[in-house]
Amino acid sequence: MGAPDYPPRFDEDLVRPFYDGLAAGELRLPHCARCGTVHWYPPEVLPCHPDAAPEWRTVSGEGVVYSFTTIVRSLLPGDDNTTTPYEVVLVEPDAAPGSRIVALLCDGDGRSPACGLRVQLSPVRAGDHFLPGFRPLP
Ligand SMILES: [Zn+2]
Repeated sequence: MGAPDYPPRFDEDLVRPFYDGLAAGELRLPHCARCGTVHWYPPEVLPCHPDAAPEWRTVSGEGVVYSFTTIVRSLLPGDDNTTTPYEVVLVEPDAAPGSRIVALLCDGDGRSPACGLRVQLSPVRAGDHFLPGFRPLP
């Protein structure tokens, strides 16, 4: 499985703690500091408590595949399609029901993605950064 070398946008610090967590092999999600609700994708203002700040916490890297697709032709700028095909999954972390993280499916050992597949965080190095990746649990 290839990984597109397409760096995240860090022009704002909104998602940097998420990517810092991936580099450390951890899944970090933003929680409301007041009520503990997880908000993914991180909003600039928390809808539950607009005056509260997000608090990034490390959570379990296990979750379940909510949906998936196979990329057979990359449309990323400058991509020469040497990394295709690869699978992209929407993962609902156990620690954040209702939240869905776009990620790569990796180390599948020939297993096809499926809705309901149990997965574990497995960040994927792509150049000088990491992308969210998950591998199937046995
Ligand atoms: Zn709240």
